[in-house]
Amino acid sequence: MSVLDLARAEIRALQPYSSARMEASGGELLLNANESAWEPTGDGGTGCNRYPEPQPAALVDALTRLYGVRREQLLVGRGSDEAIDLLVRAFCRAGRDAILVQPPTFGMYAVCARIQDAGVVEVPLRGDFSLDVDAVLAALTPAVKLVFACTPNNPAGSVVPRADIERLAQALAGRALLVVDEAYVEFADEGSVVDLLDRYDNLAVLRTLSKAWALAGARIGCLLAHPDVVALLRRIMPPYPLPLPSVNAALLALSGWGQANARAHIGVVRAERARMRAALARLPGVRAVLASQANFLAVRFDDAGAAYRQLYEAGIVVRDVRRHPGLDDALRITVGTPEENDRVLVALGVPMQARGAA
Ligand SMILES: *Cc1c(COP(=O)(O)O)cnc(C)c1O
Repeated sequence: MSVLDLARAEIRALQPYSSARMEASGGELLLNANESAWEPTGDGGTGCNRYPEPQPAALVDALTRLYGVRREQLLVGRGSDEAIDLLVRAFCRAGRDAILVQPPTFGMYAVCARIQDAGVVEVPLRGDFSLDVDAVLAALTPAVKLVFACTPNNPAGSVVPRADIERLAQALAGRALLVVDEAYVEFADEGSVVDLLDRYDNLAVLRTLSKAWALAGARIGCLLAHPDVVALLRRIMPPYPLPLPSVNAALLALSGWGQANARAHIGVVRAERARMRAALARLPGVRAVLASQANFLAVRFDDAGAAYRQLYEAGIVVRDVRRHPGLDDALRITVGTPEENDRVLVALGVPMQARGAA
């Protein structure tokens, strides 16, 4: 059986929109897309009077090198959020199919499912925020078409060991697509599971330039998956998803210079994460700081509401994650620059000498 048997039959049969840029590329004089012949401000240089390439070749090449996949295994879109939405729409029939998530987790999986009127099966992470593979498999029903696994987890920061991902992929073969969201993997000790794509056609990996690559504002994210899944999602993706300025920003971020910059900042974040964890853990009123493999820390407080207000009054906005199961006393604090992190510690009353070495 093919992984496409899990997808909606009407999407597999859909005759997609064929854009001017898809039907013909190259040429010197482009009179096929009803674009303006002039640059908007007349001074040239932006190229924005033309529709962008649907999957810009230079960006696709840079991303395949970055992630170590083949071109046909990669779909680039407007953030991994777009890939999540496309997956749900392609695989889940409204009112009939479902996704499976493990709370506490990223909220977009369930939101996309609800928009599509797909069910949401919840299998909570264990008390230590590890994934319970047996519980996931026990909760599986024929309606579940997508199983999302977020590693490192947002908002807890925990990781799913590679062996568990493999066990899941194996057990889900022919039953559901396993979607591993690696939005924060660049900050983790353990690497990506992307090399497993060639072994499991029902595995998909989400990657993004929004976090470690400092491009949240450009909205560039990828789905890495079996070529059939990539081709299927291209059918339902809007014809020109990627704005040209975003593509150019991504190419700059993925240049040699851009990559060196990002890697240096990942190093700073990892060191600051350790320093912040130790300094926060010593603070009266802090119950625990969860071990995190991402660029944030989930911090348990005796009174998280008071801590939130204390930070807010100092001009610092953190994420209140108390609505998540298992985190009803916690705030999620992003790791910033050493100076920004010092401001957090000072606002929470850490004595200057107890901040640790920045
Ligand atoms: C931030 C985040 C994303 C979103 O990524 P975009 O590429 O910006 O859409 C996806 N998954 C998780 C778990 C995230 O925290």
